[in-house]
Amino acid sequence: MKGKIHSFESFGTVDGPGIRFVVFMQGCPMRCLYCHNPDTQNLSGGVEYTPEEVAAIALKYKSYLKGGGVTVSGGEPLLQIDFVTDLFKLLKREGVHTAVDTSGATFRSNDERLLVKIKELIKYTDLVLLDIKHTDDEEHKKLTGVTNKNILAFAEFLSENGVKTWIRHVLVTGITDFDEQLIKLRKFTDKLKTVEKVEVLPYHTMGEIKYKKMGIEYPLRGVNPPAPERIENAKKILCE
Ligand code: SF4
Repeated sequence: MKGKIHSFESFGTVDGPGIRFVVFMQGCPMRCLYCHNPDTQNLSGGVEYTPEEVAAIALKYKSYLKGGGVTVSGGEPLLQIDFVTDLFKLLKREGVHTAVDTSGATFRSNDERLLVKIKELIKYTDLVLLDIKHTDDEEHKKLTGVTNKNILAFAEFLSENGVKTWIRHVLVTGITDFDEQLIKLRKFTDKLKTVEKVEVLPYHTMGEIKYKKMGIEYPLRGVNPPAPERIENAKKILCE
């Protein structure tokens, strides 16, 4: 089996606990307006690797990853769930902490075949980083191109199945930074039993340069990162 990989990062510090070796998978079904990795979206790109090849690359850094581990991000890693499961099996055999950073958008609660695959994956997954991008479905569709129903259902599935989860929320002025929206998200995360942490990720414009290079218009041109007091406000609502 081969997975399509966009890139690797050997010393990631923002995608899970400790120092992480991060595998960015190619392909994503969403089109978030603020995506800072637009070059990972198209499934036709990337380079093919076997799980064994990726595990071997990651394990070269094993001594640096104590207290950290390996995070598979993207793109959307669960588009290539079989690859991620095989990779995590190899890493767990070596005692490495495993995390998957997902939008949850591929989840379908009525797809029995997929549920079997997800249950297999979570046996080898120490942590899921789940991005909840908007609590209002219509706003979510405008922001990402897809419904949030499967994502919220995935959060509940993780809770019911005892999977340690960090919820992440990108704070964007005029799109997600509304107290009402943030309070609704807090009420939702409070109902989940396995959430260890909620992270507020302030929107930034660092991805803009990639759009320029790719010759596509930056969808959020003119939107500034949120002010420090709005970031504090969101942290108060979501994290305290
Ligand atoms: S889910 Fe992530 S990779 Fe996919 S479009 Fe959104 S921000 Fe980009």
